Amino acid sequence: MSYLDLDFKSRPTPPPQRLRRRPFKKPQLNRLIRGLTALVTLIGAIYLILSFLPDSSAKIEDSNLKQQRLHYSVLLPSIKEPELETTPLDPVTETLSSTQWITTQIKSGDTLASIFSEAGLSATTTHKVVNLNKQTKKLSKIRPGQSISMLLDDSQQLVSLKYMPDITQTLHIKRLEDESLTSELLHHPLDPIPVFKSGTINSSLFEAAADSEISENIIMELAGIFGWDIDFALDIRKGDQFGIVYNELYKDGEKIRDGRILAAEFINQGKSYQAVYYTDPKGESGYFSPEGKSMRKAFLRSPVKFSRISSRFSRKRWHPVLSKWRSHKGVDYAAPRGTPIRASGDGKIKFKGTKGGYGKTVFIQHGSKYTTVYAHMSRYAKGARKGKSVKQGQVIGYVGSTGLASGPHLHYEFRVNGVHRNPLTVKLPAAEPIDKAYKTHFTREIKTYLSMLNLMSKETIAKLDNE
Ligand SMILES: [Zn+2]
Repeated sequence: MSYLDLDFKSRPTPPPQRLRRRPFKKPQLNRLIRGLTALVTLIGAIYLILSFLPDSSAKIEDSNLKQQRLHYSVLLPSIKEPELETTPLDPVTETLSSTQWITTQIKSGDTLASIFSEAGLSATTTHKVVNLNKQTKKLSKIRPGQSISMLLDDSQQLVSLKYMPDITQTLHIKRLEDESLTSELLHHPLDPIPVFKSGTINSSLFEAAADSEISENIIMELAGIFGWDIDFALDIRKGDQFGIVYNELYKDGEKIRDGRILAAEFINQGKSYQAVYYTDPKGESGYFSPEGKSMRKAFLRSPVKFSRISSRFSRKRWHPVLSKWRSHKGVDYAAPRGTPIRASGDGKIKFKGTKGGYGKTVFIQHGSKYTTVYAHMSRYAKGARKGKSVKQGQVIGYVGSTGLASGPHLHYEFRVNGVHRNPLTVKLPAAEPIDKAYKTHFTREIKTYLSMLNLMSKETIAKLDNE
C-alpha cells in the first residue's frame, strides 16, 4: 500500500468551506440566526477544533466527490508553475518622510502619460519611465481596473512607482541617488493545488467537460495530450470517460486560474490511455505514458492547422500548371496565404531558399533518417536559417504560391532515407521515450499523481456503479 492511501485514511479532514456552510443549512438555525450569531460562531469554532483532531468522529456525510477530491489534493506535493526570472535591485532607502504614496485607479482611456500629467509629472518623465527597459514597457499596456501608486518628492518629482501588470507580478521603479531610474519585477508565484475531475461523454467532450465544471482550456489541453492516439473529431463515443489531475492556481485563498494537467486518463471505446507530466533533471518536460513512452509522435501529421487537403500523394496525377501527367510525391494543403507552416518534428534546417518549381522552400533534417520539405512559401519565418535547430510545431514559414503553384497551398513531403513516403499514411515514429538514465527518477516523480489518478478513477467508477 502506498503512503498515499494511508495518508488519505488517517486524515479525514473535511474541507473548510463545508465547515462554514454546514450550520447555516439547518432551517431551525436559520430562523434564529440573527439573534444567535455569537452562538453559531462558538459552535463553528468548536466544530472546527473537533474536526482537526486526529481521531475526530466528524465525518463527511455528503459523498460529493468533488469536495472530497479537493480535500485529498491538499495532501499532495505540488509542481511549481514556471516562474519568470527576477532581476535583483540595489536596495535604496526611502527616507522621504514628508511625501506620500498616491494611488490612481486606471479608468478606460487612461494612459501612463495622462496619469503622470494629472500627478504633475512631465512628458519627459513618462518617456524616461516607459523606455527605461523591457520591464517598464509594461506601463504602456495599462488596463482599466488596475492601479498605479506613485511616490513624489517635495518638488513633485517621481521617487518611486508601483504597478501590478497582473496578479503574479509587481513592477517597482525607483529613483537612485544619482537621479537615474531603476526597476525590478517581483514575482508572486501562485499556489498550485492539484484537483481531480472526471467526466463521461454523452454527446460531446465539451459538454461532458462543462457538466464536470472543467474549463475549456483544460479540455483543449487534454485533447492535445491524447490527440496523437485519439482523433477527437472521429473516435469519440458515448460512454467514453476521462479523469484529469490538474493544478488550480490560488492567490490568498482565491482561485486565479487553472494550471497545467499533471496526469490524465482517457477511456476511448473501452481502451484506456494514461499520461503523466514529467520534467527530467535536464529540465525537459512533456507527457509520457506510465511506462515512460512519449505521448507524442516525432512528427505532426499535418504541418498546417485547419487546412484542406487539395492534392494527395500519388504515383500519377495531372499537373495543373505544367499541364501534364506527373507523380505527386507529397501532400498539398490548401490554406489561406500567410497561414503559419510548422516544423512537423524536431530537427535542423538543411536548406532554405528558392528551388525551381518549389518556390520558396525549407528542408528540415530530422536525425539521419528523415527529411521533411515545405514548398511554395510566401515568406520564411523570422530566424529560420540554414543550420538552425527547430522544435516540433515551431513556425518556419507562411503559406504562399511561389514557384509552380496554381493557388496558395503548402506542398509537404516526407522522406525516409531519401525515399518519398505518403505523409498521410506513413507510420510515424514515436518521440523519444524517457532517457534510460532517468527511469528511476521518472518512476519516483510520477508516482503521486499516477496513484491519485488511479485511486480517483476507481472511486468514480465505484460511485457510478452505486448510483
Ligand atoms: Zn504538391
